[in-house]
Amino acid sequence: MKTYRADLHLHTVLSPCADIVMIPPIIVQEAVSSGIHILAVTDHNHTANIEAVQKAARGYDLAILAGMELQTAEDIHLLCIFDSVEQARTLQKTVDEELPEILNNPDYFGAQFIVDETGDFIRSEERLLLNSTSLTLKSAIDHVHALHGLAIPAHVDRQAYGLLPVLGIFPPDLTYDAIEVYKHSDPSNVTCLSSYPTGIPVIQNGDAHFSNDLLGACYFIIENPTTEEFRKAFRGEDGRSVSLYRGIDNPRRGS
Ligand SMILES: [Zn+2]
Ligand SMILES: [Zn+2]
Repeated sequence: MKTYRADLHLHTVLSPCADIVMIPPIIVQEAVSSGIHILAVTDHNHTANIEAVQKAARGYDLAILAGMELQTAEDIHLLCIFDSVEQARTLQKTVDEELPEILNNPDYFGAQFIVDETGDFIRSEERLLLNSTSLTLKSAIDHVHALHGLAIPAHVDRQAYGLLPVLGIFPPDLTYDAIEVYKHSDPSNVTCLSSYPTGIPVIQNGDAHFSNDLLGACYFIIENPTTEEFRKAFRGEDGRSVSLYRGIDNPRRGS
């Protein structure tokens, strides 16, 4: 068993709201210099830059998981995390069918660049990714679980696109694997979590849109960086665990 420092919420230049520096080599260098061992690439409603980040991470002690930050019909952000790009691409097909055919206005929303592992431009994604799909939160979670992925509502206490401000409660019939609190919240003092179902772990990530946003606050004690091991850690099974590092000597904490 090994301790892995992880950040499971990260945007590349494919997300219109992300900074232009969020290209694979810079993301990898920032993660490595921060002592992070696991990243999940989670662009808004898209998966096209995951492989480029994986290629850029070759040769480093850094695992890149295949993810997406899916926007549901209720305007809730859901982290969807998989072991393989193939699983993520299968979810992408569903999202492509459920995302409105509205073109991006790069001057207003920002560019949506698909790049290679060096950060070189391949093409722009033309459809606006900052939009709600017609998938409900429940159906999105079901899709992710059918593909053996992890479903984690993002920044649940954030006013914009957070589960709790949108729905008012944690619906008891939803079977997500963990919840993420907003990066600027103190996870030990999030009052809205009083309505939170017991037994589901709380994690925190950087939701990085800029290169210095990586947080790396999640410490997993697991065998290897796979979603199955994360699932065990979330459930506290077989000696696996996850905890949030809140020490003052964590240089990224609160930045
Ligand atoms: Zn979000
Ligand atoms: Zn995000």
